[in-house]
Amino acid sequence: MNFGTKAIHAGVEPDPTTGAIMTPIYQTSTYVQESPGKHKGYEYARTQNPTRDVLQNNLAALENGKHGICYASGLAATDAILKLFRPGDEIIASNDLYGGTYRIMVRVFQEFGLKFRFVDLSDASALEEAITPNTKMVWIETPTNPLLRLVDIAAVANITKPGGIQLVVDNTFASPYLQNPLDLGADIVVHSATKYLGGHSDTVMGAIVLNDDETAQKLAFIQNACGAVPGPQDCFLVLRGIKTLHVRMQRHCENAQKIAEYLQQHPKVSAVHYPGLPTHHGHDLAKRQMRGFGGMLSFELVGDRMDEATRVMESFEVFSLAESLGGVESLCTHPASMTHASIPADERHKNGLKDTLIRLSVGIEDADDLIQDLAQAIG
Ligand SMILES: *Cc1c(COP(=O)(O)O)cnc(C)c1O
Repeated sequence: MNFGTKAIHAGVEPDPTTGAIMTPIYQTSTYVQESPGKHKGYEYARTQNPTRDVLQNNLAALENGKHGICYASGLAATDAILKLFRPGDEIIASNDLYGGTYRIMVRVFQEFGLKFRFVDLSDASALEEAITPNTKMVWIETPTNPLLRLVDIAAVANITKPGGIQLVVDNTFASPYLQNPLDLGADIVVHSATKYLGGHSDTVMGAIVLNDDETAQKLAFIQNACGAVPGPQDCFLVLRGIKTLHVRMQRHCENAQKIAEYLQQHPKVSAVHYPGLPTHHGHDLAKRQMRGFGGMLSFELVGDRMDEATRVMESFEVFSLAESLGGVESLCTHPASMTHASIPADERHKNGLKDTLIRLSVGIEDADDLIQDLAQAIG
C-alpha cells in the first residue's frame, strides 16, 4: 500500500456494532466484565482504549514499524524512552535539540544519574569519538530545530548497530510522509504528534514506533505504569489529522520552498536555513533520506540586533507569533527568547543560534499571501 492509502486506512476498520466509518471516541474509563477476569480485552482505560489502539496501529504502519505506542505529549514519549535507562548509562544527543528535549535530559534525568553528552552529529565521525563502553543510546533529530541541520541517519546507524547502541530519531520535523527512520536503520522513532501528525494545532500528543518486541513491551509497560496516556478524544483528532497528512505535507513543502527562495534573495536577510535550497549544506543528504524538504525553515536578519527581529515578528499579519509548528496555519517563533530560552545564551551562540534567527512553520495558506506578509514585515 502507498502512503496516502495507509494514512487513511491502515489499522482502521468500520465500527463492528454500527458500521460507523469513523473510529468512535471510546470516552470511557472502564469496561464491564461478564464475570471476574472474563472481558473483551479491555479492562481499564489507562491500560487499553480502542480509539488509542487504532491510532497506535495506524502510526506503526506509517513508520513501517511493528509497534506504535502513544503518550500524553511528545515529551511524555521522550520521558518513557529515557526511563529505559539506569544511572551510569550514557546517552549521546545532537547539540541543537528541541529545547524541551534538552531540558528533560539535563534537568530531570541527569539528576537521576543518566549521563548526557551533546555532540554535533551533522558530522557522523564526531559520534565515534564520543562513544564509550557505557553509551547505551544515541538521540538525534533531523532536520534539527531550529537550524534545519541534517543528520545522516544511515551513517549514524552504521556506527551504533555493531555496539548494540539504541538509535532514537525524533522524526517530528519531517513526519513519516517525508522520512522513515526505521527503514534507514534507527531502532526507535519518536514524534510530537502535536505537530504535523495532528496537523491542526488542536491537540498535544506523543508517539513512539519501533520494531523490537522486548523494548516495545517495556515502553507499553511504562505507558501503563507511569500513566502518561492520551485521552480518546485526542486520539480521534490525531487519527483524523493523519488522514490528510500526505496532502498537507505536499503543500507545506511547496510553500516552504517558495518562501526559502524568496528570503534568500532578500537584502535584509543574511542567511536562510532550508534543506530544499541547493546551497544548504545538507541538500544532497536530504534528497537521499527524505522524500521532500518539509515545511520548516529559519532565517537570520542582517546585523545582530535582537530588537530588529522583535520588530519583524510584531509586524506579521498572516504569520502568527506562537510556539509549536506543523499546523495548517503559518507560525513564527523567535528561538532565542521563546523555544530555546531554557538553553543558556553562550551555549546557544556556540551552537550557531543567533539572536536574530526567526523560525517559520510554513502553513498551507496561499504562498503569495505568505510572501507578501514577509515582504511587508521585513520591510
Ligand atoms: C514539540 C516537539 C517536541 C515535544 O513535543 P510535545 O508534544 O510538545 O511534548 C519534541 N521534539 C520536537 C522536534 C518538537 O518539535
